[in-house]
Amino acid sequence: MMGQFIAAVPGCLSYFRDESRLGGQADYIVFPEDAAQAAAAIRRAANEGLPLTLQGARTGIAGGAVPQGGLILSTEKMDRFLGFSAGEVPALRVQGGMSFEALGSFLNRGLPPEGWDAESAALFREQARKLRFPPNPTELSATLGGAFACNARGPNSLRWGAVGDHVRGLTWITPQGEIWRIQRGRYCFDETGCPLPNGGRLSCDAALPPGGSRFLHPRPGLDLLDFLAGSEGCVGLAAELSLSLQALPASVWGVVYFFEDERSALDFAESLRKWRAQTPGGKALSTLEYYDQPSLELVRNQASQSALLRQLPLIDPHAGGAVQVELEGEDSDTLESLLMEQLELFLAAGGREEDTWAAASPAELEKFRILRHAVPELINIEIDRLRRELPELCKTAADYLVPPELAGTYREACRRDLEEAGLRGFIFGHIAEGRLHVNLLPGNREEISRSRALLDRWAAQAVQAGGLLAAENGIGRLKRDLLIRHLSPERLEQIRTILQALDPQGILGAL
Ligand SMILES: Cc1cc2nc3c(=O)[nH]c(=O)nc-3n(C[C@H](O)[C@H](O)[C@H](O)COP(=O)(O)OP(=O)(O)OC[C@H]3O[C@@H](n4cnc5c(N)ncnc54)[C@H](O)[C@@H]3O)c2cc1C
Repeated sequence: MMGQFIAAVPGCLSYFRDESRLGGQADYIVFPEDAAQAAAAIRRAANEGLPLTLQGARTGIAGGAVPQGGLILSTEKMDRFLGFSAGEVPALRVQGGMSFEALGSFLNRGLPPEGWDAESAALFREQARKLRFPPNPTELSATLGGAFACNARGPNSLRWGAVGDHVRGLTWITPQGEIWRIQRGRYCFDETGCPLPNGGRLSCDAALPPGGSRFLHPRPGLDLLDFLAGSEGCVGLAAELSLSLQALPASVWGVVYFFEDERSALDFAESLRKWRAQTPGGKALSTLEYYDQPSLELVRNQASQSALLRQLPLIDPHAGGAVQVELEGEDSDTLESLLMEQLELFLAAGGREEDTWAAASPAELEKFRILRHAVPELINIEIDRLRRELPELCKTAADYLVPPELAGTYREACRRDLEEAGLRGFIFGHIAEGRLHVNLLPGNREEISRSRALLDRWAAQAVQAGGLLAAENGIGRLKRDLLIRHLSPERLEQIRTILQALDPQGILGAL
């Protein structure tokens, strides 16, 4: 039953949208339970020429999971744990529809499901509670398959990178419905392309610079698995993933440093970035997030309305900017001395010790993570409120990457442009990596078009500075035109050649 196409009736409305607030429609929906059922559904869509949209939990904010007719393949029922292997780096096999939340609880409980072989089950019982999957995108209902497809990054990406970096094996379903098993290290690009698991070859010029986007960007030496990470459901389905797990750190610290003005917060963030690069042991700094004044005000204003936000200490009404850090390591004394060095930098940047929140246990740290998640979530709630009068409004945001040393200047230019254009905007994110989120809240049609003009202007600036157009949340349907406008013609041609080779019928409908 689960592999059958179901007519997409009005009861399916929630499958027609995602967190971008973009709306779509579809004729059918299918809920496969495993890779074989998913492959059969995709083969049928290809045979019948049905446009296909792959969906995880629809938490994406670029509209990539929003269907434009045809068939939706939802991984909702592909949520099983498949096996565990120990070794130097333990690995857990999961289906692509598994959520981060379920993965976290599963490791916490340490109880293997029925059906695993005796050896995997015993090893899992012994080790699970000491392990974690390091990447920590803040939306826990997101699926591992969706996060691989977006190559999602959490606040700790400064140390742990993106989801794809921690995937060592993949069961991949092609747009023709072939099932490929891909192990890291088995298939790699050279200058002219990459061998494929079906014995074929993807031929393309793999020597072009990214030209503003890592989307389907081959380069010599690149693992096929890393090429598929971030392919946004445009060249196939991540049906099963083998996740590399790491030991939980013995010691953690989390601090939020508040400043009265944004300039000091930016200076402090920059001094921490340099400190991390120069200090032995500086890599213990796994998270470095920046919040501007409007972002802090948004959280402070909503704090009394939300049980979750009430867990946080109160944000001072004078807070004009903040920097959130996390440190992790094996030795608590070393961590504490690194923390003292940071405190010196904080005081030198004009901060006061009483304007900090500090946590020294994983449970306390989780509370502070609420802050990072609350900002994008509250912005989405604001969008929903504005949409009552302005239904065409959807997520209006940039997650461009600029060289890290330019992040402060970029933030200031964005803020100036917002003020000149008379627009409401929020700036927060991974400043040490040059990945800032700029979210705009236009209140009428005229403001929507001014906002889009700014997104275009910043895109041009980011690409000119050698940056990227979508550094975290993907291109999806929302930024497709932006990509086409700003990518070099050679790169656009390269992407189209690759799409033509991997999805000749164009059922996944990209670009
Ligand atoms: C409040 C909030 C906070 C967020 N925080 C973060 C964050 O910290 N970091 C971050 O990176 N993102 C963040 N996101 C964005 C979102 O959670 C991620 O992009 C996530 O990876 C999407 O996963 P999903 O399962 O919801 O995928 P969906 O939204 O369902 O799909 C996203 C894309 O992946 C494709 N896709 C889905 N599943 C598969 C699959 N199995 N195989 C191939 N393609 C697939 C879809 O076609 C689509 O193009 C946040 C979103 C919200 C609403």
